[in-house]
Amino acid sequence: MTTQETIDLFDKYVIGNYARLPRVIVKGHGCYCYDADGNEILDMFPGWAVSGIGHCHPKVVEAIREQAGRLLHIDNTFYSEPQGILAKLLSERAFGGKCFFCNSGAEANEAALKLARLHTAPQKYKFITAEGSFHGRTFATVAATAQPKYHEGFLPLPPGFVYVPFNDVDALEAAFSDEVAAVMVEPIQGEGGINVATRQYLEAIRRLCDENGAIMILDEVQTGIGRTGKWFAYQHFDLTPDIITMAKSLGGGAAIGAMMAKPDVAASLVPGKHASTFGGNALACAAAIAVIEAIEQENMLENAVQLGEYARRKLEQLKEKHSIIDHVRGIGLMIGIQLTRPGTDIADRCLEKGLRINCTNKTVLRFMPPMIATRDQLDQAVDILDGVLGENVK
Ligand code: PLP
Repeated sequence: MTTQETIDLFDKYVIGNYARLPRVIVKGHGCYCYDADGNEILDMFPGWAVSGIGHCHPKVVEAIREQAGRLLHIDNTFYSEPQGILAKLLSERAFGGKCFFCNSGAEANEAALKLARLHTAPQKYKFITAEGSFHGRTFATVAATAQPKYHEGFLPLPPGFVYVPFNDVDALEAAFSDEVAAVMVEPIQGEGGINVATRQYLEAIRRLCDENGAIMILDEVQTGIGRTGKWFAYQHFDLTPDIITMAKSLGGGAAIGAMMAKPDVAASLVPGKHASTFGGNALACAAAIAVIEAIEQENMLENAVQLGEYARRKLEQLKEKHSIIDHVRGIGLMIGIQLTRPGTDIADRCLEKGLRINCTNKTVLRFMPPMIATRDQLDQAVDILDGVLGENVK
């Protein structure tokens, strides 16, 4: 099919709720994807942070092939091996929690909110979330998302959500009461522009939750599964949340989400309270097991640290050349380039020149290379960005 033929199908048959780039991606491998016109794209934002170990990692592809030949899906009325093994692998890499599996980040957060309510009922019902956050598009998770632009057209939202400025300890203390069931934040706000939570802020959440019997939920949908150089971003800080959520790169491209809760909290989710037909299906779990094994066998956590430092250095050098860059921030391979003006045109121009990055929150270029990237690939990406920024000099 030609690019135009595919676009015509979408125009006629697919709901137009995405602002799509005019490219049809037909295959991906490692740090590259390819469009229907044969163009190679160096993908430094693969799958919107889903392909954290690159496109079509061979170990993931093989695990999916193998599992597909045996059992694609069995309902949660039964036990299945991949789900149990995956839960163990995740638990051992976080805080010894227990997992509930679903299919996306929003569903993982939805489960976390429901569990927090269940666990703290009947006295508590409020959820505190942070301005600039993004937690998903279901009714509860969009209500948790403290950005008015995502609420437009959907009012009234489910009640009980209280919004506070991100990284503001005083505001958090002021918002707290014994009615608060949970605080939910991202350790690094992704859609909000790669805003890193301060140690003091996360420690204050932990302390206030402990003092008030509330649940600390960290949304690790974007930060989790090694992206920051640790399995989960909270591990950069000296504290343990009660619940974490994950999705995106967990399945290496297969659709899977998970919520992990401390065992005493998890105990509140008894049969009949929550479920997901596809949650924990054998195919997605087999893919996620392969992702975890590949990360360990190929030293990708270490690579994320080294490469992250390297990328930050290279991007800092670009800042010296281009006054449009205000500063660079982030942890590991979750990097934001704060511009002094909106940057969508810059991301678009990079794509024309064969580099995919993203622009979020209007003025932040988001650079999230896969953990298998090499220095050469980063150099290539920075060179393309350098060229584009040079064109933009006014
Ligand atoms: N939470 C965070 C931090 C996210 O970045 C996203 C998606 O971008 C979500 C939740 C929602 O995930 P999904 O789109 O898989 O529902």
